Amino acid sequence: MNWDDCDQCEEWMQPYMDRELSDAERAEAEAHLEDCGYCRKRYRFEESLRVFVREVCAEPMDPALKAKLAALRTPL
Ligand SMILES: [Zn+2]
Repeated sequence: MNWDDCDQCEEWMQPYMDRELSDAERAEAEAHLEDCGYCRKRYRFEESLRVFVREVCAEPMDPALKAKLAALRTPL
C-alpha cells in the first residue's frame, strides 16, 4: 500500500463527494478506493455521515439524534 496515495485520496474525498473533481482525478480516486480497504472504509464513513447530517437537517434536531451524531464523529 502506498500511503502517499492515501493522503491524496483523503484530500480528494470531500471534493469527490461534492462532484468537484475532474474526470481524471475522480478516476484515480475511484481506482484507489477499489484497492485500498482503509480509504474505502473512510469513504463509506464520510458518506454515511453526510447522509445522516442531511437527514438530521431536514427535521428539528432532537437530543437523541444529536448524541448519535456526536458518536458518529468519534474518530475511527
Ligand atoms: Zn488508501
